[in-house]
Amino acid sequence: MVKAKWGLLLAAVLIPLLISCAQPPEDTSENGISTKEPVKEQEIPEQIKETDSSIKATSAISGDSQPTGRDTNNPAGIPQQEESKESEQEKIAVSHWKRVFAKALEEINCPPPPKRNFSDKYYKGPMIDTHIHIQSLPDGAPGFPDEYYTGSNLGIKQSIAEWVCMMDYEGTNSSFAFFAVWDPIRDESLEIVKGILEAYPGRFIPFIMPPDRDGDPDGYPTVDAGELEGMLQVYPGLFKGYGEIGLYGHPGGAPALPPDSPRLMEIYPVVQKSDLLVYFHLGEGQKESFERALKANPDITFIFHGDQLIDCGSCDKTLDDVADILENHPNVFYGIDELYGDIHLLRQDVSKEEFIAHFKDYRPLLKQDLARWKDFIETHPNQVLWGTDRGVGPVWSIDPEVAIVLNNYTRYFIGHLNPAVQERFAYKNAENLLGEAS
Ligand SMILES: [Zn+2]
Repeated sequence: MVKAKWGLLLAAVLIPLLISCAQPPEDTSENGISTKEPVKEQEIPEQIKETDSSIKATSAISGDSQPTGRDTNNPAGIPQQEESKESEQEKIAVSHWKRVFAKALEEINCPPPPKRNFSDKYYKGPMIDTHIHIQSLPDGAPGFPDEYYTGSNLGIKQSIAEWVCMMDYEGTNSSFAFFAVWDPIRDESLEIVKGILEAYPGRFIPFIMPPDRDGDPDGYPTVDAGELEGMLQVYPGLFKGYGEIGLYGHPGGAPALPPDSPRLMEIYPVVQKSDLLVYFHLGEGQKESFERALKANPDITFIFHGDQLIDCGSCDKTLDDVADILENHPNVFYGIDELYGDIHLLRQDVSKEEFIAHFKDYRPLLKQDLARWKDFIETHPNQVLWGTDRGVGPVWSIDPEVAIVLNNYTRYFIGHLNPAVQERFAYKNAENLLGEAS
């Protein structure tokens, strides 16, 4: 199935490459490599230069005939030297993406899920994780060996099978998955989402996450309405959601973007037309702005998370503002992913061993989490969603050993909620959202 897709992939890859190869791509990702140099002939390792049948098929387009003025094989009159340089770059790019896609969809050895004998204190039912990030593809210039791409990119260091293994091992049915899509790898990023959904039907509910140079002070956490619409038109109906969009100010990068800013107000009709859920991570002080957006878009379902309305300079550290939003707007949900002692430990500065050790004694964690969340969940049983915010950050966040430790504790926490709300929080609210969105 994967092999049959290379024809499509070639088409998706070649057109942007003809443009992007002429200029060295900007390094727009913290995960990408920072090469600003164009690919130089001598730097390309031999194995990448090797041609294969798929490359021969496409390079035949440029032909071998001498361009004499306006040739039908060369209507633009490109001098032959440039033409062959382009076709060389095409070959490198095709080979690069073929390799990256194969790695991104590569199978892995996933350990079989362990037998778990939960006592009655644990929730034992299905679960849907509503907050999972998927690593992006490499956005550096094509054609370098793996070690040049320094992040943990999908297709270089990781395969989507690792995310599936995480879910299988801990017994999570599916997840709301945030897929990054940006230039210069827009088309490849869309293509891999399609490939992943075909390879693992029903496991990922795909959200499109399209930043617009969010690492630059003049960038934005999202592309504008026109660009978003263009992305959604490539594979109509592919995505079920838009987000997660971080509306807070990015340190050294894009400033905060209020939910009722003109850019977002123009995006909402696009989102509604494609029947997408919206997932925001709000910034500090955005309660009123968010409520205006919620009120103006009663037919769009919004989900938000993050503690910017809870634990900020001017916040009162309670859940009152979040509760207020839920109570005043039926079209909004809150994602809870900071269980385990009400702190977020899936961080680069925490090791896998430290994370696991944190769960040695459930009692203090449970005491803290029930004090923080039990009333809130039980008072808003139809507007709360379980999530974990795993997938990027530390690579160990999707490790099966970590997954089982986190999931066991989460089931213990859910088991201490009112039985009437347990399933809703664990998966039913999420499932109902999908019914609405599809
Ligand atoms: Zn997140």
